[in-house]
Amino acid sequence: MDARPKLGISGCLLGQKVRYDGGHKLNRYVTETLAEFFDLVSFCPEQAIGLPTPRNPIRLIAGPFGADVRAVEIEDPAKDYSERLDRFGREFVGRIGDFSGCIVKKNSPSCGKDGVKVLERGNPSRRGSGLFTARLLADRPELPVEEEGTLADPLLRENFIGRVYVMCRWQELSARALTKKKLLDFHARHRSLIPNDEEEINLELSRLLSGLESIELASVAPNYIRLLMHGLRGTVFKSEMVPE
Ligand code: SF4
Repeated sequence: MDARPKLGISGCLLGQKVRYDGGHKLNRYVTETLAEFFDLVSFCPEQAIGLPTPRNPIRLIAGPFGADVRAVEIEDPAKDYSERLDRFGREFVGRIGDFSGCIVKKNSPSCGKDGVKVLERGNPSRRGSGLFTARLLADRPELPVEEEGTLADPLLRENFIGRVYVMCRWQELSARALTKKKLLDFHARHRSLIPNDEEEINLELSRLLSGLESIELASVAPNYIRLLMHGLRGTVFKSEMVPE
C-alpha cells in the first residue's frame, strides 16, 4: 500500500476540548497507537454547525410513533439542530472520498453509532444513532465506522482495522483507473476473507461479478465494494495486521 490510510475521528477523542462542557474524551489508544499507523483527521459536527463551546447539551427525542428522531437542546427543545447536523453530514460525506474509515464518540447525539439514548414519549431507550453518524452510515454504507468503545474489544478492533486496510487498498485501486480485470483480481485476493456463514453475500457477489462482461464497470464497482465490506463485518483478520 502506498499511502497511510486516512481515518476521520471525533475531535474530542483526540483530546480536543470541543465537548458541550468544554472538555474532551481523549482516547490514548487512538492518539498513541493508531496515530502511528494512520493519518487521523478530526471533525466535530456540533462545532461545525456553529454551536459554541461550552454550549447547552443536546439529546435525541423521537416523534409520537418512534420515528422522526430530532436532536434538540435539553433545556429548550425548541432549539432543534437536526437539519444542521444532517446537512453537515452530507457535506462531510462529499469531501471524504479518500477516508478509509471513521471512529466516532459513543453515546453522543451527534456522533454515536449505536445505542444512543433516545427519549420516546418521555421514556429513554437506547436505540438511536447520532444524527451526523446516521447520515454518514446512510451515504457511505461501505465505509468502516466504529465507536471508540469498540476498539477496546480485541476481536472487534482487529476486524475494524482489517476492514480499514481493505478499504484503503480498494481506494488506491480505484484511483488508478479501475478495470474489470483489476476488480476480478482484487476479488480473488479478498474473497477468502468473507466468513463461510455469509452465504447470501457470497451469492450476491458471484451474481454481480458473473454479469461483469455486459455491465458498465462504473455501475458495478460501488455495489461490489458495498457488498464486500458488508461481508467482512464478521471476519477474523490476522492479528499481525493490527496495532496493539
Ligand atoms: S462527540 Fe462529536 S459532536 Fe460531541 S464533542 Fe465529540 S466530536 Fe464534537
